[in-house]
Amino acid sequence: MTRACLQIEERAQAASPHVPYQFLMHKQLRELLRNTTKELNEYKLKTLALCRKLSTMVNRLGDLKRLIMAVATSDHPRISHLVSVTLQQGASWRAIVRMLEGAVEKLSSSRGYSDKDFQIARLVKVLGGPKLHYALHHALGIPSLSTTEQHFDKRVLKPSLGTVKVTEINENIESFFGKHRSWPKHGHNLQMDELAINEVAFYDKACNSIGGLCRDHAHLVDLKIIDYDAVLTASEAVHGENPVLHYGKEATVAAIAPFSRDDYSPLPVLVSSTCKAETAD
Ligand SMILES: [Zn+2]
Repeated sequence: MTRACLQIEERAQAASPHVPYQFLMHKQLRELLRNTTKELNEYKLKTLALCRKLSTMVNRLGDLKRLIMAVATSDHPRISHLVSVTLQQGASWRAIVRMLEGAVEKLSSSRGYSDKDFQIARLVKVLGGPKLHYALHHALGIPSLSTTEQHFDKRVLKPSLGTVKVTEINENIESFFGKHRSWPKHGHNLQMDELAINEVAFYDKACNSIGGLCRDHAHLVDLKIIDYDAVLTASEAVHGENPVLHYGKEATVAAIAPFSRDDYSPLPVLVSSTCKAETAD
């Protein structure tokens, strides 16, 4: 047997890895194809794993970008408060970002408002009214009207619509001082002054009476609204040719302020309108 025949026989038995394909046997080609296919599948799996890893990293990058946007477009105290609350709750990084996005879009809000938030909300309600409160609740995320009202004790100052009665003052004292936490014993100061008011009448639902008229002459007319004629009578008394009743020009306001290092704000106990016709007698 020639040397060439021997080489062909050896190659047919066990070919080296670098033998060109055209010199391989059919069986060897099938084996090579099987191994190559297996290797290809392994690479496919690795590619899928890398794609998944890359997708996760892209998502995290998106979360960071959204966080930056949230910080850039929101007020920083609110952001820090939200982050601290979510961290206390053991929330994940993504949950924090979702909450921040909700805060930015005003779709969700933190349940942990600070006392300062409630004070600001109350100030907005008092100075700007419920419509401004509603607008700022959605625009800046201050506590809602109902949440603010629940936070503070509801104190109602009952105005004296006619002649001042002791019972009305007692009701106001009970409303402002009765539900307060226990007061330490100390002196109190009674303060009284008169404030200019709009000369208009109003309906007091609690008393079913006409308010805003002077106490000086209120005893001349029954201010209770028992029927339509009662309203006409009061109107005639104010707007008739010979008025005997007037709109209040000023309101006498009495307040009690404790001599205390803390909580020394005067609390009103009396408000009564006057036409300034009464004398010291
Ligand atoms: Zn009067």
